[in-house]
Amino acid sequence: VAETGTPDRFEVTTCAYCGVGCTFRAEMRGEELVRMVPWKEGKANRGHSCVKGRFAWGYANHRERILSPMIRASIDDPWREVGWDEAIAHTASEFRRIQAEHGKRAIGGITSSRCTNEETFLVQKLVRAGFGNNNVDTCARVCHSPTGYGLKTAFGTSAGTQDFDSVMAADTIILIGANPTDGHPVFASRLKQRLRQGAKLIVIDPRRIDIVRSPHVEAAHHLPLRPGTNVAVLTAVAHVIVTEGLVDEDFVRDRCDRAEFDDWAAFVADPRHSPEATESLTTVPAESVRAAARLYAKGGNGAIYYGLGVTEHSQGSTTVLAIANLAMATGNLGRAGVGVNPLRGQNNVQGSCDMGSFPHELSGYRHVSDDAARAMFRALWGADIDHEPGLRIPNMLGAAIDGEFKALYIQGEDILQSDPDTRHVAAGLAAMECVVVQDLFLNETANYAHVFLPGSTFLEKNGTFTNAERRIQRVRKVMRPLNGLEDWEITQKLAQAIGYAMAYDHPSQIMDEIAAVTPTFAGVSYDRLDALGSIQWPCNDAAPEGTPVMHLDGFVRGKGKFVRTEYVATEERAGPRFPLLLTTGRILSQYNVGAQTRRTENSRWHDEDRLEIHPHDAEQRGILDGDWVKVASRAGDTTLRALVTDRVAPGVVYTTFHHPATQANVVTTDNSDWATNCPEYKVTAVQVGRSNGP
Ligand code: SF4
Repeated sequence: VAETGTPDRFEVTTCAYCGVGCTFRAEMRGEELVRMVPWKEGKANRGHSCVKGRFAWGYANHRERILSPMIRASIDDPWREVGWDEAIAHTASEFRRIQAEHGKRAIGGITSSRCTNEETFLVQKLVRAGFGNNNVDTCARVCHSPTGYGLKTAFGTSAGTQDFDSVMAADTIILIGANPTDGHPVFASRLKQRLRQGAKLIVIDPRRIDIVRSPHVEAAHHLPLRPGTNVAVLTAVAHVIVTEGLVDEDFVRDRCDRAEFDDWAAFVADPRHSPEATESLTTVPAESVRAAARLYAKGGNGAIYYGLGVTEHSQGSTTVLAIANLAMATGNLGRAGVGVNPLRGQNNVQGSCDMGSFPHELSGYRHVSDDAARAMFRALWGADIDHEPGLRIPNMLGAAIDGEFKALYIQGEDILQSDPDTRHVAAGLAAMECVVVQDLFLNETANYAHVFLPGSTFLEKNGTFTNAERRIQRVRKVMRPLNGLEDWEITQKLAQAIGYAMAYDHPSQIMDEIAAVTPTFAGVSYDRLDALGSIQWPCNDAAPEGTPVMHLDGFVRGKGKFVRTEYVATEERAGPRFPLLLTTGRILSQYNVGAQTRRTENSRWHDEDRLEIHPHDAEQRGILDGDWVKVASRAGDTTLRALVTDRVAPGVVYTTFHHPATQANVVTTDNSDWATNCPEYKVTAVQVGRSNGP
């Protein structure tokens, strides 16, 4: 694919990278994509785009793309190309054999946040109705599963409260654990526009990220906390709000559970939670915490935006609850310009969660123990739904190591590179009898696969994505699938081959089924999406365009729920053996494990992961900028080049994880969030020393 020539037609489709969900005119000449032009009518981007969505689509016909199915008896054998019929029949035969020998719960599936809602829905349907268990999970496990838990607990809905436009009505913005300049660039532009108009910014982040001080924008406060102390900082902010009389009493009285508020208020008011008492722990000056708390509580409309720096901790869910507490205590919910807003990483991570990809939840976040919901699915799907939650990804891998889990169908995920504690992931995959990888390229996980099913790109399929503001948008097929099948067709063939009937002719029929069984998607159809451009769930026939701002008059759960958020130190503490704390993130030109962007011109801007290290720590170790360094944790070690910079504080190092040569997740550990098992990517105790290279 190259940006050349004169187009003769176009389709409007949605970017397959981040959760902003920009829409583009995909301009075509025949079967050739000529260019992607940001779509002015796109409600998420309004004609804007970033370097990924605008230019990074050359991977679609990259020479390394796999277009034929492949099988092999063992992972030591060479791959053998086969036709689709043989690949599907072989996979189904293996799944049936394994279930006959080891029981129906010995197999499972992983959905992809890069795939469409329709494809995700079919994978979880295959697992629940075809395999007969709930062993389905999603990559949201390793990113925003604490958001799902925390926001559902506090408000009753596992989603952000606002649309992106809402930021233009915000007066004070807290940005915590998110770097939108790199991760959500088009939203970052809108945020900076609002800041230039006079809104105030509070950044809570261990690094001095770009937006702390960039042209015409300067944060009012930067709280450079020690990695792993989010809960302590947020509870200190709450302490100031409660003890200085900054609570919105009317909001709390009218909208929240009073007894729970009183309990929480007494908890945070304890002197041990004051900014002064926690200063040595968090490394944030107490006066900065006090100033930030006063500004958020009394600085007009207060909006909180957060990212993976909140969720990917052992206290990720607690941190989301702490954010929800702050928003309720200050009355910053239920209107434009305020709210609790997770910046979702992947293009369809919201959608993959909505579609029932978690092992404990059916589509629309109904628990599998809900008898009425299961009865509805049984009537429609003609199959009993297991009432017990299935296994999460780390538990599937652990059960495989224990000999109890034997086969895994992975659609569009590279868990060996993206999931923490690579050695554990490899051991789990190696212990399975049948690993099926469905992807564009032979990714790292495919090294452990017995079947490779070539996937299709977003340019080759019809469907929908749901962005971070709950906006459902069409993905339109602009070229035929080079591999011969769209991803949903592969899943359907697999279901048919194991003996479970699926008979969709088009993804629009899958969406009709989603809308019929998922209350928050009521009334969504391709016709309606074509007419309206997009729909923000929750929606129904009475509100066909959906709901830009949620919880206007009351919370979905009724009264808002305050929860005590006791700080618990992570096991990853700097000590004599591992004296530095490693945190990880991403960069503008690359996307996640880089499977797509590394195969585009974007690699010219970022062709390797670097380790950011403070000049003081570098000098102590004799490390100069550009030197090779070895980073070692209790989980493993890797080698990469140093980038000496004061963007990170002394004692903190930072890297990206886009390149398999680095394998940053060899170093990250198996620590995870107490409620959801979301890995603690953001804190790993490490030692760093000079190296001669990899
Ligand atoms: Fe928009 Fe995100 Fe795609 Fe960039 S990567 S064009 S910000 S959706």
